[in-house]
Parts: sequence; C-alpha cells; structure tokens
Amino acid sequence: MDLTILTPLDGFGYTRSVRIGEVIETKKRGGELRPDEIRYFVEEFSAGRIPDYQASALLMAIWFAGMTPAETTELTQSMADSGDRVDLSSVKGPIVDKHSTGGVGDSTTLVVAPLVAACGARMAKMSGRGLGHTGGTLDKLESIPGFRVDLDAASFAAAVNRCGLSVVGQTLDLVPADKKMYGLRDVTGTIDSIPLIASSIMSKKIAAGADAVLLDVKWGSGAFLKEPHRAIALAHTMVRIGSLSALKSVALVTDMNQPLGRSVGNALDVEEALRLLRGEEAGDLLTLSIEIATELVLLSGVEISRTAAETMVRNALSSGDALERFRCMIEAQGGDSRVVDDPMLLPQATSTLSVRAATSGTLSTIDAELIGMAAQSLGAGRQRKTDRIDPSVGIVVQSRLGDDVTKGDELAIVHFNRRDLADEAAQRCRRAFSIVETTESGPQSSGGRRLILERITA
Ligand code: URA
Repeated sequence: MDLTILTPLDGFGYTRSVRIGEVIETKKRGGELRPDEIRYFVEEFSAGRIPDYQASALLMAIWFAGMTPAETTELTQSMADSGDRVDLSSVKGPIVDKHSTGGVGDSTTLVVAPLVAACGARMAKMSGRGLGHTGGTLDKLESIPGFRVDLDAASFAAAVNRCGLSVVGQTLDLVPADKKMYGLRDVTGTIDSIPLIASSIMSKKIAAGADAVLLDVKWGSGAFLKEPHRAIALAHTMVRIGSLSALKSVALVTDMNQPLGRSVGNALDVEEALRLLRGEEAGDLLTLSIEIATELVLLSGVEISRTAAETMVRNALSSGDALERFRCMIEAQGGDSRVVDDPMLLPQATSTLSVRAATSGTLSTIDAELIGMAAQSLGAGRQRKTDRIDPSVGIVVQSRLGDDVTKGDELAIVHFNRRDLADEAAQRCRRAFSIVETTESGPQSSGGRRLILERITA
C-alpha cells in the first residue's frame, strides 16, 4: 500500500502521500476518490491525525456529492479493517446474520434466530441496545432473569455450536472508525447520507464474521428512513457492497408505518416472541420472521429451493424445535429458561391502563414513532446511552391499520410502574391513532400496504 509517511506538510504531525485538503477538494467538486485516498482518510481520522473540522468537511462533501459503488465499498472495507474482526472459525456450519435498520415492536431476531437454528444454519449475532424510540435486542433479552449478553469469544462460539444460535453484545473493538465517524456525523447533519449509512452498517456486518446477511431495511413513520425510495436506495447500496465484499447479502424493504408486533417494550416483547414460537399467535411479526428465516436458510445453503426452505421454517415452528432452540440459548447464556413455559417469571409492571378510541371509524394511522416514544418515556427505552431501562414497562397495541373500531374500544394498553410517566405515555399513544369515518371503499391510507415492499439481491 502506497501510504508511507512522507513529509510533515499539513502541520498535523505525519503527512502521507495523500493530502486531506485535496481529498476534500476532489469530493467537493463531485469527483471520484481513489481507494488509497479513502483508506488514508479512514486510517488517519481513526488515529486522530485528521481533525474533526476537515473530516466534517469531507463528510458534508460526501453528503452532497454521493459516492460511487466502488468508493462506498472501499470506505466500508477500510472501516471494517479499522478494528477487530470476530473469529467464528470454531463454529461448525454455515453462519448467517441479520440486520434491521431499526423499528418499533420489531422483535424479529427473537423469532428468526431460533427458527434458523432449528433449520440447521447458525446464527452468531452481535446485537445492539435500543436508543431513542427504537428497541434493542440486547435489552429485550436481558429482561430474562440472569440472561448474560457479555459472553467471551469462546463461550459465544460454544453456545452457537450447542444451540445453533447466540446473541451477544459487542465485546471486541469492532469498527472503531465507525464510532468516531458516527459521533461526528451525528453533530454535523451528515447522518442521512446513503453511502455513509450503508458503509457504517456493512462495515460492522463484515467485521462480525458471518458468511451471509439478511438486511431488513425499514421505511415509514417508525423507521429511520421515512420514504420508501430512500429505503430502496439504501438496500441496493448495501447489497452491492456485500457482493463486492464477498458477504452474501439479500435485502428486504419492509413496512414500519405501524409497530410490527403488538408489544413495544422489553419483557413484553420476549413474551410475544414466546407466544409466536409456541404457535399461539400470528400477525405481521410472525409473517416477516418467517420470510426472513426463509431468506437466511436459502443464503446459508441449507436449502436451495424457496418452497422447501419455507416449509422447513414452518416445520421448525410447528414442531416446537425453534422454541427448544430459544430455551437452549437462554440456558447457555445463564438465563432462567423456566420463562419459556411460564412467562409470568419475566418482570411484570405493577399496573396497566387502557387507551380507548375517542370515536368510531377506521384506523387510518398508527404512528409507530409516537408509540415508540411513549414506551421510551415509560422507561422501556433510553434518551442517553447511560440511562437504565425498566424491563417490565411498555405498550401493547391492540389494533392494526385498517381495523374498524367503535368508540370506547381498547386501542392500546400501557404497562407502567410510575403513574406520572403513564399519563404522558397514554397521551402520546392517543395521538398516535387517527380514526377516519368508515366509507364503503375503506380508507386509502390503511389497508393494502405491503409488509414487504421489495426484495433486493445482488
Ligand atoms: N445505523 C448505523 O449503524 N449507522 C448509520 O449510519 C445509521 C444507522
């Protein structure tokens, strides 16, 4: 690599054959950066040798000018190389991963991972915590008494080999370049750039060590990307990076205009996932989980026909195999697996209150972001990374878009421990629901929205 130290030209200690000023200038004028220029930026910025003001200028230039697929891929790979990589070489069998861009009532990992494991693929997953109005898998799992997400590398691999799945937090220093860049993007208005989001997500997926990944890219009121065309563009960009980086990738662009499942909380989400795995309940969360699991079984190579893969997934559910995989993971990670048969052993809120329909008609909006914020304000989520969450509280949504409701019907149930927080959450919930007069043809904005808008492959 031609990045040897030359002369101290810039006044920031070391200067290399690439100069940051020229890199910014090229991108500002809409030009294409060379691979060595991109790698230089990532390495030097991570090492603290490019100051924030120059990095911000470059990120803003990227925000305006965009990046070519080759540039985005180089950025991704340079970021993935900035820290540790998870070594999964001791895991036997095909290893798959999934990523959701974040939603409300989105407990798909809790359902998908056991389904995939029961089909013979391996799910070795590093998950994140919730921040803002979106939930996080680690917080949900930690609501199971005793459940540990801080396994060391050997215990992680052992859990995957024993149960077919394990979900842990990040212990290694994966993609430090992303941590620095994300922090800067957050305060410089450069988060919402497709190449920057795509490289941030895909660098972490590459470093996480799986053979294949399913990307669930959400669009809608509860998603990070509100418009479908932006979600589709992000999905295409990530799949392209995957194919240029030897990480098999498929993306589904999915609807997040209402909470995906009924529960928005932590222990409440685990309870819901267990009901789905026991075959006691259906709905969009289960439908999407089956689709994602089918994609992962195909990506893993365990099955090559879609019909056979879906049948395998459905059998894993109906036979109870997936539920047993979940139990196995809880045991392997130190949790109280009796919750599988007795969900009342999960933390329970002391009180509930109902949010009821103020008029009769058809539900035309269920603002997922507002519901997520309502759950967050109860203590189910955090405002800051250091906040402690209350695992027992949350919202259970009792209705779906397009439902006909009568004045006084229960639309949602608020599970709370503190009355002062409950009133504010209930108000937010009330605002999340819009009811329109029912017409013969039905409201335009509700029914008919597709759960999976697009499937994108390389
Ligand atoms: N999620 C990420 O991991 N990175 C982004 O840039 C945006 C969302």
